[in-house]
This record gives sequence, structure tokens and C-alpha cells, in this order.
Amino acid sequence: MDYNYLAELLFPNITTLPAEFEEKYPPRILPEGAKVTRFAPSPTGFVHFGSLFPVLVSERLAHQSGGVFYLRIEDTDSKREVVGAETDIIRAYAAFGIAFDEGVTLDGEHGDYGPYRQSERTHIYQTYAKQLVREGKAYPCFCTAEELDAIRQEQESIKAVTGYYGPWAKYRDAGIKEIEALLKDGEPFVLRFRSEGSSARKIKFKDLVRGSIEITENDIDHVLLKSDGVPTYHFAHAVDDHLMRTTHVVRGEEWLSSLPFHLQLFSALGFKPPKYLHIAQLMKKEGDSKKKLSKRDNSAALSYYRGAGYISECVVEYVMTLLNSNYEEWRMANPDADLDEFKFSVGKMSASGSLFDFDKLNDVSKNTLSRLSAEKVYSYALDYAQEFDPSFAQVLKSDPDYAKRILAIGRGGKKPRKDLTVMRDVKPYMSFFYDEYFALETDYPEGFDKKDIRDALSRFIDAFDIADTQEVWFEKIKEISSELGFCPEVKLYKKNPTAYKGHVGDVCMFLRIAITGRTNSPDIYEVMQILGADRVKARIFAEIQRLAG
Ligand code: GLU
Repeated sequence: MDYNYLAELLFPNITTLPAEFEEKYPPRILPEGAKVTRFAPSPTGFVHFGSLFPVLVSERLAHQSGGVFYLRIEDTDSKREVVGAETDIIRAYAAFGIAFDEGVTLDGEHGDYGPYRQSERTHIYQTYAKQLVREGKAYPCFCTAEELDAIRQEQESIKAVTGYYGPWAKYRDAGIKEIEALLKDGEPFVLRFRSEGSSARKIKFKDLVRGSIEITENDIDHVLLKSDGVPTYHFAHAVDDHLMRTTHVVRGEEWLSSLPFHLQLFSALGFKPPKYLHIAQLMKKEGDSKKKLSKRDNSAALSYYRGAGYISECVVEYVMTLLNSNYEEWRMANPDADLDEFKFSVGKMSASGSLFDFDKLNDVSKNTLSRLSAEKVYSYALDYAQEFDPSFAQVLKSDPDYAKRILAIGRGGKKPRKDLTVMRDVKPYMSFFYDEYFALETDYPEGFDKKDIRDALSRFIDAFDIADTQEVWFEKIKEISSELGFCPEVKLYKKNPTAYKGHVGDVCMFLRIAITGRTNSPDIYEVMQILGADRVKARIFAEIQRLAG
């Protein structure tokens, strides 16, 4: 067979040669050891939370090594494509602080290795396809859907493995005359790969996460170009990963079964394959067993987390704890360090994958939030409220300094307060600071005389001076306690409780309830300082009146 002749017959309009693209997209000039990684989603309209794992690994590997991380849109399957999905993908990851150096972006494409949308690269794929035909490594197949179905039925009836391979591959050895005649009749064809693999042999292969694995060779003559000339994902991605000079491919383990075919493709095309990291599917606990985090779970969509009020930093932090077994230990030793300072290591990734757990996410979220500055929490809270609670956003914006002072309570020390897990917690946490939300949410505990409570509040008002230091302020409360028959020292009270009506802590509690409406609040002195003298007095007066009524 004259393969050159066949190649011209099949692709008369393709005049470019692979060498031209090799020259147009030369090896990248990067520092020694720099990794080039990519995220290559199909725009199907659903951004899975699990995708954050390969994305973060790819991003870390590239950026930690001075390399490049790019976004390629794999849109060769127009049937699955959803309008707007591409923008959604870019926005979804941007919201998690993940930036692509190259590829498709909201304002066009960046980078010298594009186009980065597969739908715009057809002539490149066809150039390589034509070359494979020249080398006898690909051939046209004119089978109709009915013929393929008949082959499958026959295979099933004799219990043979189904598929287009070896003796079943009807057009694998078709003669040039037959091909010419079919083409002349305008019969559509797909281009198939001529596999030299055998199901009786295995390939040995080293995955950077899973270690050495053996997989059965591919003997199927898979489709490279569909009848409209559009490539299949398999073919397109091999050409792209090569021409975009990808060094490391991080993707889900569901692609592992295609790997023997992918490696065959790289070899047939004369490309050096990238290194692979196949990540296990994200599982979640269900009772005592584990199950896949499926699309039907609310929490499977990346967008769910923002709506639920998780901030991107916390989610990323959580994912990092799952991705690298030593991350949590590092974080404990370096509570304030930037994530960039952590040395991400492929060797610390678990081959068996990760188990998603909301309790753990909440825990990480709480800790991460407690370490952020009030300024940052304010901006996250405002951002969230603007989308999900506009009236609270107005309140936050009405006096940013006031809001930041509230959020600064208990921050910055060795043991920061941990009141917030998600942004939805911010409003209930702060609400009593705002008159429009303030309400008495609790009653005074039983066993105290209303008159004593009223008296304590009145005397406090008489003595109150916002300029008092915490010490002076507390001395005054102790005095009031003594005057009303409450013990000024808790220890003393405990020795002889029947001698008193209560102790100084109870008096503080009266104040706390009157001022915050709750039994639990941050340090009440600090709360008063932020509320200011007028609000403190107004609330206490109102409470005295209520108690008198
Ligand atoms: N386009 C494929 C997907 O949607 C990417 C597979 C790969 O990363 O090679 O998952």
C-alpha cells in the first residue's frame, strides 16, 4: 500500500506538515525542573468540587517550580457542550484564587501555545492525522453504525471481547482500490488508529502517585477523527499535550484505563509522553461505607461552597490537608504562613484518594477564619452579604470601621476566638452590635430577684464611664456586687454560697444580657467599648424599664 498516496487521497486540503507546528510551538524556555501543567475540562456545564484536587495539584506543581499552568478547553464533543460553561469554569476557579498563566481567559486568550480551544485546532490535528496515515499508523474506516452493531452482536454471540480490533477491524487491511471507490461514492469515513497492541500483553508504567502499575495493552483500533474531521478527545489531547509542551498531567483515575491507548498514541506520533498523576475519585462517608461524591449531591458542585458561605481560602486549605499528608502538621507549625511557603510534594499524596468530610471542612474553616485579619473577614463577609443578604451588606457598609472593630475582637493572639465557620455565621455573631438587629434572646436564669437585677443595672449606669480602663471598670462592678449582697470574689463565694445572693460573675451576666441580649458574648468590657457609651446606656435604661414593667 502506498500510504503517501492514501494520505493525499484522504486529506487533499491539508498542506501543513507536523514540522511546521513543532517549530511554531518550540520547547519552552523555562528554568531547570520547571513543570508545565494544564487543566483541560470539557465545557459540560457542571464544575465538580472534586476537580479542585487535580487543579490545585497542577497549579502547585507549576507555580512551585517556576513553570506554567494553563487552561485548555476540550470542546470537541459539541453534543455535550453547554453555552456559557466556559465562562463558568473560569469564574469558578478564579473564585478560589486559582489563576491560569495561559490559555482561555475571560478577556480572550493568553500565551504563545494557542489556540487553547480544541475546536479551533482542527487543522493541527488533521496535519498529525495525515502524518499517521503516511506512516501506515492510521486508516479510514467506512463502517456504518449498523455494521458496527452487527460486529458487536456477532462478538457477543460467540462471547468474544467486543470492539473494533484485529480480525474484527473490517477496514484495517482494505485495499487502495476499495478505499478509492468508497471515497468516490462520497461514503463518510472515520480515521482509526492501527493498534499494534495485544490484549495478551501488559504494559508497565509508572504513575507518580500510584507507583508502578501494569495494564493490559490496547488492541482496539480507536477512532482518531470522526467523520466530520473533528478529533476524539484521545487524539486531540495527545497532540495538545505535546505541542503545548506539557510535562505533567494530573487527572482523575477514570482516565487510567485509556492510558495504554494514550501511550501508544504518543509513541506513534513520535512524542515524549508527559509524566502522569492519576488521582483517585473523591469519596464521601455514608454511614459506615464510602461512596462517590456524585453530581446528585448538592455538595458536589463547586458553586455550592460559596452559597453555603465557605470562603475560598478555607476550602483550599481543607483540600490541601487532604492532598498532602504533612500539610496539617506544617500549618500547625506555621499558622500565619502563606500557602505558597508550603512545599507541596507528590510523594505525600495518597494513592487511595481522599474522603470528603464536612466536619473536617468545618473544623479547618473555623481555624483558618480565626487566623485572618478583621479587614479580610470584613471583606469576605461583605462580599457574601452583597450576594445573599443585601440588607446586611448595607449595614456592614454603613460604618466599615465599626464592623471591623467588632470582627477584631479576640483576633491576632495565640488563641484566637473561633466564632465563625462560614460567612452565614457573621450576621448572627455580629447582630447585637446593631440596634436594628438587637433583641433580647434569652431570659435571666432562675433564682435571681428581678429587683436585684434592676438595682445592679441602675448602679452600673450611675458609675459607668466609657473611659474607664478594664481594671477600674471591674472594680466598680465588684463594688456594686458587694453593695447588693453579691460576693465580689467567685472563690470566696464558693466557700460559703449561702451567705450571698450570688457573685460578681452573676452581676456581669446581668449586664451581658441587658447589653447583648445573650448569655454568651465576647468579653463584655470590649463589647461595651465598641458599642459606645450612648448605646450601652440606652440598652441598660430600656432593660431597667422593662424589668420594672
Ligand atoms: N477533557 C477531559 C475531561 O473532561 C480531560 C482529561 C485529561 O485531563 O486528560 O475530564
